[in-house]
Amino acid sequence: MFAGGRPESHDARLVYALYHLSADWDARNALGVAPLKEIVDRIEAISSVDELTAYFTEAVDGEPRKKLWTSFSTIDPVHTDRHIIMVNLCGLLRGDSAEYADPTPEGEDITARYIKFAEYLLVRTGYSEEEAQQKVENCLKLEEMLSPVIPTRKERMDPDFQASQNKYVTRDELQKAEGNIPVLEELENAQGFPAREQYMLPCPEFFEKLNEIYNEENLPLIRDYLIVHNALTEAPQLDYEAWNRDRHLVDDLSGESNETDEQALLTQACAQLHWAVARLYAENYLKQEDKDRITAVVDEIIEAYHDVLNNTEWISDETRRHALEKLDSIDRRVLFPDSWEEYDYEGLDFIPAEEGGSFYDAYAQIQRYLQLKDVEEIDKPVNDRVWSAKPQEVNCGYMPIENAIYILGAFAQGGLYNSEMSDEELYGKLGFVIGHEISHAFDIRGSQYDKDGNQVDWWTAEDKKEFRERNDKMAAYFENIHPWEGQDLDGLKMAGEACADITGMKCILGIAAGKPDFDYDAFFRAYADLWCSKMTPYMAAYYAEEDVHPLKYLRINVVLQQFDEFYDTYGIEEGDNMYLAPEDRIQIW
Ligand SMILES: [Zn+2]
Repeated sequence: MFAGGRPESHDARLVYALYHLSADWDARNALGVAPLKEIVDRIEAISSVDELTAYFTEAVDGEPRKKLWTSFSTIDPVHTDRHIIMVNLCGLLRGDSAEYADPTPEGEDITARYIKFAEYLLVRTGYSEEEAQQKVENCLKLEEMLSPVIPTRKERMDPDFQASQNKYVTRDELQKAEGNIPVLEELENAQGFPAREQYMLPCPEFFEKLNEIYNEENLPLIRDYLIVHNALTEAPQLDYEAWNRDRHLVDDLSGESNETDEQALLTQACAQLHWAVARLYAENYLKQEDKDRITAVVDEIIEAYHDVLNNTEWISDETRRHALEKLDSIDRRVLFPDSWEEYDYEGLDFIPAEEGGSFYDAYAQIQRYLQLKDVEEIDKPVNDRVWSAKPQEVNCGYMPIENAIYILGAFAQGGLYNSEMSDEELYGKLGFVIGHEISHAFDIRGSQYDKDGNQVDWWTAEDKKEFRERNDKMAAYFENIHPWEGQDLDGLKMAGEACADITGMKCILGIAAGKPDFDYDAFFRAYADLWCSKMTPYMAAYYAEEDVHPLKYLRINVVLQQFDEFYDTYGIEEGDNMYLAPEDRIQIW
């Protein structure tokens, strides 16, 4: 897609030009860290809180600045037909706010890398080693002051966290809550948003705290926070050395360092212009006949879910009616969108390399373009036909606020889906994943959204109670498992994914039951092969702590333990390690 001559269409030309600008190391190295230096100098020149406020609220070529908070347009999770401006927290160098009071060895390890990298970038912009160290220390000091009011990663993992964040304020209330922090002024002057009647402010405590800190005494810490975070954000757009260090920051931890420079550049260029790449990718690599075949499989699986929901004895008819209504409203988004009309970058143009354009300018132009688009769309109703996930992602997903499942083009490839697959393989791999994604509509998180994607409750109180008890039982089962000595699991964190795995399997087994001569052994092997993987001990520990999915071997073993078909296929009996007594099984649906 990128190696040949310049493509014809506007959007394809954009992403082609961006890639070639990004790969022009002579030009990027000649520019060096100058763009970062310019930002740093501007921040260093701030000598009072008034000047700081002015810095945040100035519009510079339509480019908003990095702040001590975030504010952006998003889809309102409670009324998904409209946009809302979210006013929220700042980013932290340590990632998790819990790390400030209670650092873990893993957290310290990662932070040490960021500290070293930030210091390197600051030295590159002209600071001495000591100055650079002091600045990063100051940044961490400011973050430590803010950290007590920032939800921890563990708190965010709670299935009810998202619902607790839906806090609306009027403009007057926001004005009161912002105090001396120029939240509204920045939104309206720097970002260009019109005044709105309502905003979302999930964490008013953060702005209370920020007001305590926003004074002359802390100005040096605030400046250094801004300098450090700008440096880290800009690094990937700078010269080869900064770019290369950035991309290898955590390589040896993840064990995933085999990407070539060229691949990494492609990934980076593609990430800026998702939809231009999506269209190119779909036109080059995806086929309508696969879209049709997989859509038919999705339909078959949705049909089978009617049985799962209809045969669930513990829900009332009222809850069942809502659940079935939601099931039938799920939007099926398979491989690539039906039309490309809504995904173009009309009006975005940058100067290609051969005419003297630079990668840095093109990058900045894209950010401005996207910002402008958000401003333009804020008062318009949400277009619910537009996909939020892109065909080139190697992923599938269920989006609760869209009530849509995505089976993306780059996922349904090779070993996961191909036209030569047997039925058993198809159902053990892609079919299972489709079943898994649909059941997210009815897991502990997804079930909090209705058929239109609004985060409103459609359950009877009694059914909800039973549902939660079933989730608790499942969580407790996982908490009894210790994948290796000293490693505990947080069952509630994994409740959504574990439920999706088990329910997805139940649905597929329902389909298998209707197929004569279905080869269960081939099916279970295909399923195990889906999750078979290797990872470094660091990544395994990271998964166990941070990821919402159960460890992969548990996605195989625990899921299969729940079903008679598995016991029957392999003759598993009481006393065998894989045996789980019927009363201990943890099916939710
Ligand atoms: Zn999932």
